Amino acid sequence: MKAVRLEATGKLALRDVERPEPGVGELLVRVEACGICGTDRHLFHGEFPSKPPVTLGHEFTGIIEKIGNGVSGFHEGMRITGDPNIACGRCPECQRGRVNLCHNLQAIGIHRDGGFAEYVCIPQQQAFELPDALPPLHGAFCEPLACCIHGIDLAEIRTGSSVVVLGGGVIGLLVVQLARLAGATTVVLLTRSEEKRRLAEELGATDSADPSTGDIVARLTAVNGLLPGGADVVIECAGVAETIEQAPDLARRGGTVVILGVMPQGVKVAVEPFDLLFREIKLISSFINPFTHRRAADLIASGTIKVEPLISRRIGLEEAVEAISNPARKGEIRALVVPGIG
Ligand code: NAP
Ligand code: ZN
Repeated sequence: MKAVRLEATGKLALRDVERPEPGVGELLVRVEACGICGTDRHLFHGEFPSKPPVTLGHEFTGIIEKIGNGVSGFHEGMRITGDPNIACGRCPECQRGRVNLCHNLQAIGIHRDGGFAEYVCIPQQQAFELPDALPPLHGAFCEPLACCIHGIDLAEIRTGSSVVVLGGGVIGLLVVQLARLAGATTVVLLTRSEEKRRLAEELGATDSADPSTGDIVARLTAVNGLLPGGADVVIECAGVAETIEQAPDLARRGGTVVILGVMPQGVKVAVEPFDLLFREIKLISSFINPFTHRRAADLIASGTIKVEPLISRRIGLEEAVEAISNPARKGEIRALVVPGIG
């Protein structure tokens, strides 16, 4: 079968490899779609640790082709979404229920072969059923959505809350929808691209603004601004120093800031502890998807969270190497690798 292999830092290639055989408790999945995420590009550049040679792709969905011995609750032909993050279940954090902080965390598509291939083999615990009738590509959004659900849980949004979302990529656009669903009545998305702002408003943002024009913090939090005194909750989904620094300034006294965006390791940003303290700002970070994958799958299966507008292009495995080795195209939200097309 064909697979996109990271062979070393900066060396990605489409290779013919043996189709894997499901071992005990494993499922062989025929991949229907796998999203290209910023992390795949970081892995390519060696900015995120991995274990080459390995097949990349951690946002996959597909149909069970074959089941290994000892599998129960799954059958051939069933559509599933994969949770790539495998916790050990035994380390101190796992035993406290904090599986995303597992000391031995392994990820499919990072430490073991993933979904940029015709088939992927996964432990049954990592699979979650999706309905047969779901458009086949939609399941590829379960993994990013599961990460956003964790961020929303930590944000403790209440009915009537006001929320600012920084960054209009796939994460920001999913967070906008989740924030509305969680009860926020004001959701303002800040992103530079006009197209993304328009899409955010279609998906539920009550307002949007371009953060690169004028003093956005002063404009939004002014008495006559969209969020007088600041927002109850600010969710950072851009992963750039500028937005991480802006986030506390956009929060109201006693407000909450949730950081979802990933900054390169070692990079520092400026925050003012005096201000955080005197306004008692809660600064929280949110890492991956502890026990949220089933909820993500259900929200996508029911059509409650809209993902079709987030698909910018579909490419075959042949084009995936080039797409992962280069920055995302301008305006692109999500490119999906669909084995067999192109
Ligand atoms: P993305 O497609 O790169 O989206 C980020 C968006 O931020 C861009 O679309 C860009 O849109 C916007 N942006 C850039 N600079 C900005 C600025 N100065 N002000 C406002 N917006 C700005 O990435 P993504 O896939 O949505 O992911 C977002 C972040 O979440 C990444 O850092 C990713 O690594 C991280 N992530 C975290 C988790 C987790 O578990 N915590 C899980 C998945 C992803 P414009 O050009 O319109 O400004
Ligand atoms: Zn563990």
